[in-house]
Amino acid sequence: MESDKIYDYDIEREREKFPILRRTVNGRPLVYLDNTATTQTPREVVDAVVDMYYDKKANVHRGVHTLSQEATNAMEATRSLVREFINAGSTEEIIFTRGTTESINLVASSYGQLLDDGDEIILTVMEHHSNIVPWQLLRSRKNIKIKVVPINERGELDLDVYRSLFTDRTRLVSVAHVSNVLGTVNPVREMIAYAHSRGAVVLVDGAQAIAHLRVDVTDLDADFYVFSSHKMYGPTGVGILYGRRSLLEAMPPYQGGGEMIGHVSFTGTTWAALPYKFEAGTPDFVDAAALAKAIEYIRSLGVERIAAHEDRLLDYTTAELLAIPGMRIFGTAPHKSAIISFLIGEATPFDTGMLLDQLGIAVRTGHHCAQPLMESLGIEGTVRASFALYNTFDEADRFIAAVRRVAAMLT
Ligand code: PLP
Repeated sequence: MESDKIYDYDIEREREKFPILRRTVNGRPLVYLDNTATTQTPREVVDAVVDMYYDKKANVHRGVHTLSQEATNAMEATRSLVREFINAGSTEEIIFTRGTTESINLVASSYGQLLDDGDEIILTVMEHHSNIVPWQLLRSRKNIKIKVVPINERGELDLDVYRSLFTDRTRLVSVAHVSNVLGTVNPVREMIAYAHSRGAVVLVDGAQAIAHLRVDVTDLDADFYVFSSHKMYGPTGVGILYGRRSLLEAMPPYQGGGEMIGHVSFTGTTWAALPYKFEAGTPDFVDAAALAKAIEYIRSLGVERIAAHEDRLLDYTTAELLAIPGMRIFGTAPHKSAIISFLIGEATPFDTGMLLDQLGIAVRTGHHCAQPLMESLGIEGTVRASFALYNTFDEADRFIAAVRRVAAMLT
């Protein structure tokens, strides 16, 4: 496999941009493999945050003064760039939220009001809790039914069952583009086409796709597409909801307050036009503005090149890990993203994670906010390693050696 250890960009130059990658943990150089939970942030994104605070901080959308206009322009420039990045039809369809979780809650609360008692929605067993609980909250307010698509032994959705779950009452499907545990890339384009043929709309949770796959909401024909800035090398506290204009126009506001109104009076209030109807209150304009730098950064390397790099790390590491006695990898779909969930023998994920941390290696352990998936796999949790554009083969080797060592100690 040595011949596959190739880089098609200057990885050391990219790593230089992430100061955190130079630190040590427990006396060892950090190997950061918790990218599914959050990616690290390059200097140019942090500089953009600092620039907003030091040079442009003024509340957006309300001021005629220069600073307010500059802050507004910076935030709106990000909106335009997001539109371009995901190939949405218009900036009116791009709504700033706090993250994937809030984007899904927005749709469940607002679109949910358009559902009737007895309507049905379809989720999958591999969803993150943030794509399950908002729908359960909706179910506690409306008498809707939630149906769940199962997976096969490779961790792929069973599309025959998916199709069989539709009835005349199916109104919405909500599905992850990429599983945060199994890495499976779901065939969302095909799933959307089928849902549309049955008159249902589809929300795609793109939290684990946006920094790792080319996302084109027009090509997918998605009705809603949601993601978080912090998982795409951007600042924390910002997320995006893309929504099809006709749906957003039909939906009632999510929260009330400043920014989202046309005119307020005690006899009746009107709503602002899209996208502001869904952006009540002062937005996180500092971080929203800086998200533009993260998108420019991803585009400077190209998402396809990033994906190819991560795939090479995935293939190499998977093959080496499988040679360790007692190794079980959960999620073996041919089309998967660079996420490896595993268990070694009877060792608990917690013990494995603690020992890896002693060796400077950051992985995540536990149920990964996917307890229904864990239940369907018959386990409590896994150890999860996930790659990003700055990870190297040297880091993969240190991780593999550390797992071998831990396996020898725990099994
Ligand atoms: N959906 C998926 C697939 C995720 O992996 C995550 C986070 O790990 C989320 C949703 C929630 O994202 P956030 O916590 O940024 O709202």
